[in-house]
Amino acid sequence: MLRKAIALLLAISMLATIMSSCSTESNGEKKVYDDNYRNFYEIYVRSFSDSNEDGIGDLQGVLSKLDYLKAAKGQDDSHSLGIDAVWFMPIFPSPSDHKYDVTDYYNIDPSYGTMDDFDELLKKFHERGIHLILDLVVNHSSQLHPWFLQAVEALNKGELDNKYVAYYNFTTEPETLDEEGNAPGYTAVPGNEEGYYYESRFSPDMPDLNFDNPDVWAEIKAIMKFWIDKGVDGFRLDACKSYYTNSMNDSIDVLAQIVDYGKSVKSDCYFVAEVWDGPWMIAQYYKSGVDSIFNFDCSFMGPYSGLFHNIDNGNGKKIGTHLEEFNIDIRNQNINAIDAPFISNHDTPRSGTYFKGSAKKKLAASLYMMLPGNPFIYYGEEIGMTEGWANDPDKRQPIKWSSQESEVKILRPKGSNYVEAPHYGVFDQLEHETSLVNHYRKLIKLKQMNPEIQRAQVVSASDLNYNISSYTCAYDNSAVMVITNITGTPKTVDVRAAGYGDYSVLSGFVIGDDYIEQEQFKAYMEGYEYEVPDMRPMASPVFYVNGVLTLPPRTVAVLRNPGKVNSTFVTTTTTAPPIVTPSDIVTPTDTGE
Ligand code: CA
Repeated sequence: MLRKAIALLLAISMLATIMSSCSTESNGEKKVYDDNYRNFYEIYVRSFSDSNEDGIGDLQGVLSKLDYLKAAKGQDDSHSLGIDAVWFMPIFPSPSDHKYDVTDYYNIDPSYGTMDDFDELLKKFHERGIHLILDLVVNHSSQLHPWFLQAVEALNKGELDNKYVAYYNFTTEPETLDEEGNAPGYTAVPGNEEGYYYESRFSPDMPDLNFDNPDVWAEIKAIMKFWIDKGVDGFRLDACKSYYTNSMNDSIDVLAQIVDYGKSVKSDCYFVAEVWDGPWMIAQYYKSGVDSIFNFDCSFMGPYSGLFHNIDNGNGKKIGTHLEEFNIDIRNQNINAIDAPFISNHDTPRSGTYFKGSAKKKLAASLYMMLPGNPFIYYGEEIGMTEGWANDPDKRQPIKWSSQESEVKILRPKGSNYVEAPHYGVFDQLEHETSLVNHYRKLIKLKQMNPEIQRAQVVSASDLNYNISSYTCAYDNSAVMVITNITGTPKTVDVRAAGYGDYSVLSGFVIGDDYIEQEQFKAYMEGYEYEVPDMRPMASPVFYVNGVLTLPPRTVAVLRNPGKVNSTFVTTTTTAPPIVTPSDIVTPTDTGE
């Protein structure tokens, strides 16, 4: 009886697997949008891959993992994440590990490689259709940047008219002094007898640049032009709220000037800004014309009503309405706004740290990856890496490629709260059909198959069900609907009765998993000393029959409205993915054997 039950369970799980792969791959030819809507991957080069075994990740190391990032055209992509854009944290020369204090904006940090390595990398990225954006840190320079060294030297000689003195914000009267005579946000100029301070909002290592100075603007523009001319596709802009501390409007104006200049050099230059704040403030900064601003509200760490609080309370309905409101707000400020949702970055613990269990990690990924806009995956997030909360090295631990190799050990000093990465590395997980990394792969495929999702003006369809997140995505005279069951139990929704019967074709799905059932199954198998098989979804596949959609736990499905078909965005074969009917489903029965 046991053996038969296992065989049946595996048969069901195989069916589910086949279904999910069929439905996320298209035999038809679709219009390919070569635009700035992309699936981004944030890489800390130092902690990614080390090509010369000096203990520091480098550009050649990144290149050695190119097949993992994205397969070449025609190449087997079963071991590729499938992203189509990369954000590098700073790679310019810098005395620090994090490199957010730049000493030379025109070079590559020697520990990461050479300019030749960079040129080679950019060329190979572009050959694969991967865009690259660089971290542009111009709120401040390093205190060891020649501009600042020359400024301090001149200041200490009393040469106040030296050009570089005006690059920074020196003052003898900082805005505020505390009781000990220290000025928060300011640092005393070393060796200065006149009592000068410099503005340094983040740290004494990082003197703030003076945006009132046209010479500083000339420098920033020259830097941008240099990298755009090299072929980079855009920039991630650091610390935009701090361009003018305490003046939102002035900071927005700086952001606008940076974006305008970049787009004057290269019209499709893409910008994503860091404005670490809530939805209202983020919407204000979209006035600058910036393409994207990281959606901090989406991350669990967001200071306001984090989207993912709703995972815990089962309120799927709110996710759709919240999403619609936010996207309307940002597009009211910039009609071309592209939301930039994420759930981890280098300043937060990886999402695996706070979404416990594979089921929630997968659900969180399904929710944010399937939002309109450009998702930003933080390297290592896709294998569920966990770490401490305390300090930056914890949050920037090296990615674990394999449980077999020692790359974790040789890369960078461990953080004080070092926690071992999970048992499985990237390449182990790729071999397991239901691993987290394969879940991300499937989500990216599903999106690429339904390009409306990223590009749409989203409209909430929240009247379907309290536990369901649902919204329609219309773009280029084409429309799909994204429906996610955010609970741990199957849900059936009458899509047609709710007024969405036009979305009559199941255009793909990615099944979540039921963590509890799997753990019970695993324990059960181990109890009988059977070899424990790969963990596979235990839930039944998705049904969409007569306008009624049945979703397994934590599963996302995409429905297409076949009546809205763009003449240029059309599948050459109009066959829908096969729809499973109830008679196809095998139900395990105890025959008493
Ligand atoms: Ca190295």
